[in-house]
Amino acid sequence: CSSTTPITATLFPGDGIGPEIAESVKKVFTTAGVPINWEEHYVSTEIDPRTQSFLTWESLESVRRNKVGLKGPMATPIGKGHRSLNLTLRKELNLYANVRPCYSLPGYKTRYDDVNLITIRENTEGEYSGLEHQVVRGVVESLKIITRQASLRVAEYAFHYAKTHGRERVSAIHKANIMQKTDGLFLKCCREVAEKYPEITYEEVVIDNCCMMLVKNPALFDVLVMPNLYGDIISDLCAGLVGGLGLTPSCNIGEDGVALAEAVHGSAPDIAGKNLANPTALLLSGVMMLRHLKMNEQAEQIHSAIINTIAEGKYRTADLGGSSTTTDFTKAIYTMYDEMS
Ligand code: NAD
Repeated sequence: CSSTTPITATLFPGDGIGPEIAESVKKVFTTAGVPINWEEHYVSTEIDPRTQSFLTWESLESVRRNKVGLKGPMATPIGKGHRSLNLTLRKELNLYANVRPCYSLPGYKTRYDDVNLITIRENTEGEYSGLEHQVVRGVVESLKIITRQASLRVAEYAFHYAKTHGRERVSAIHKANIMQKTDGLFLKCCREVAEKYPEITYEEVVIDNCCMMLVKNPALFDVLVMPNLYGDIISDLCAGLVGGLGLTPSCNIGEDGVALAEAVHGSAPDIAGKNLANPTALLLSGVMMLRHLKMNEQAEQIHSAIINTIAEGKYRTADLGGSSTTTDFTKAIYTMYDEMS
């Protein structure tokens, strides 16, 4: 699509702080004149029998139709008889890869200044296959599923991503020395794909060593690809390297070209409704969505407005050590945008 053709995208404001930060995204995108029509869907208060969750069938159809969307955090309701909302989305939309860029924000000092890496997490299987049962009283079993099909698919995505984004190295993260069959198969698939990309350096790093290396010197890594559970943990570790969950965006990639961008944090019930949330992670997820849509000019301008506002330091939310409200911080971003254009 060109940068002026209007696009319809699905928006899940989500729970807790979700509607407040989704409002920020809508305001900033409107100021920037981004040609997007939002199709908004809220989490229902009743279980939809067609999805067996609080997500309506219509909202899933909306993403399938539009092929692109932005998602706020969704609280996992306590109780039985329904599926987790995030798991429902991943399974129903076949969102097989979760991509999280982690980079040092200029002007926001953390322990590291030179983080610039991408984690790519397999999103559909591994320990999160949902296959758990009690063998006998006092003994339970959880099945870790690794398939050739899902491993090849995520490895292919990681190498393709590296090639098309000017990245030089892909590291497969594993524990194949212990999990010989499952992680062994994952590695075998990564090696097969690596052979098709001789211009990309390929390496394999054991997960425990990877944690140590990331904390010691994150600049050692470029693109990391890994099975589900390792990806869940490592991607949060990486978020911590650059300032926390309020800052880190992500995008879920599905079959048939579906892309659903989302902030990595949760619904933050402790600050919900208080105008205190940091909208940066959802805004940067929106920027990822724009890049996916090839609206690169708007993406770069909005990105710069966010970065410059944080760097200027005059308006920051409490999680970044400031005292601005969500609305004041948002206003600072769109004012910055106007000044820059
Ligand atoms: P959380 O991420 O909601 O909150 C952890 C801490 O970080 C809290 O102190 C919160 O105030 C703070 N925080 C998070 N996002 C922030 C932001 N944008 N600005 C400022 N501070 C922020 O994690 P939790 O408390 O473990 O989970 C709360 C709910 O969210 C649970 O129901 C959980 O299942 C759900 N959750 C959803 C997602 C998702 O939709 N992808 C991810 C994680 C958790």
